[in-house]
Amino acid sequence: MNLLDLTPKEAQSTIAGWIADRGEPPYRTRQILPRLWRRPATTWSGATDLPQDLRVALDREFPLPRPALERLQQSADGTVKFLWQLDRDTAIESVLIPEGRRRTVCISSQAGCAYGCVFCATGLMGFQRQLSPWEITAQVRELVIADQFETPSHVVFMGMGEPLHNWAAVDTALTILNDPRGLGIGARRITVSTVGIVPNLERLARRPEQFKVALSLHSPSGAGRSRLMPVERKYPLELVLETLRSFSKRITFEYVMIAGENDADDDAIELARIARSLGALVNLLPLHPGGVPGFEPTPLPRIRQFATRLRSLGAHATIRQSRGLDIAGACGQLRIEVTASGNVATENHTGVEQ
Ligand code: SAH
Ligand code: SF4
Repeated sequence: MNLLDLTPKEAQSTIAGWIADRGEPPYRTRQILPRLWRRPATTWSGATDLPQDLRVALDREFPLPRPALERLQQSADGTVKFLWQLDRDTAIESVLIPEGRRRTVCISSQAGCAYGCVFCATGLMGFQRQLSPWEITAQVRELVIADQFETPSHVVFMGMGEPLHNWAAVDTALTILNDPRGLGIGARRITVSTVGIVPNLERLARRPEQFKVALSLHSPSGAGRSRLMPVERKYPLELVLETLRSFSKRITFEYVMIAGENDADDDAIELARIARSLGALVNLLPLHPGGVPGFEPTPLPRIRQFATRLRSLGAHATIRQSRGLDIAGACGQLRIEVTASGNVATENHTGVEQ
């Protein structure tokens, strides 16, 4: 059985039941549980605070799965990209972004993505498979191990995949990340970024914790959005915005700026209206190379002008710094190809199909 796929509460009762069956004292559960996430053990035999026979039994009963670190790349700006091999055919990436005292880890929720936004490298890969809760949270757990139990301060679901297209696993992963018996990261420091899968957006809204929600908007109109994001046909913008109105959580809009596509003055006017009505913060960021060729980023001076326009119209707007561009670790650049032999080929940085 894989304890790392359970919520901390479920893991606790599973361990307690097993401990009782073995006739061990109940306090063993309190010793074992923190070794799952708070002070993660790599193997039970390494958890030397437990008696030897118990460690052997734990290794047999509850082996601790780990992803293999295939590659680590460091950007000139301090960003680090990790390539994790999950099984023979599946690899994913995560990115660690240090910013002063903040350490944000950007994690993947799926291998590939089914939504095919035209500007996104992960979208180009197509969908490979869902990640399980342990595979999602391992991207944080492994950093805690590497950093001698120092937990990253923030987590964003902005790596590969659409988190709300893998709700069951992401639901459990959110609990593991947030629960004090799990990784213990505050809900306000965990951001779920989504294109707006309405039924699961509602499920996320019903969770009592104050997780942050980032809606990938990219155009203030359904027509503009449908040119960039095929999801518009299934969950139209109007419906997504209607759903967000029932949210009590803080919302941000992600807005990738693409020259001539979504950076006109009229876009700013409509975007400001929507952002004001939802009290949302608009995050502007330039298009990064990686998706379909033929799209160009909006030049920075124009992005600044656009932000000023939004602010003059009463909307909150910030320009997001691109991080890890030189290692193709910035938003929308994560891409892995699996060769016919099942080996993982490193991603293509040029954005041109090979
Ligand atoms: N599937 C989710 C989360 C992963 S993508 C989503 O789309 O929200 C994380 C963010 O990267 C999204 O806001 C996405 O629109 C953005 N992104 C994708 N491709 C990009 C690119 N080429 N340049 C800049 N941002 C990009
Ligand atoms: Fe999928 Fe998000 Fe990329 Fe769109 S931007 S293809 S939803 S990962």
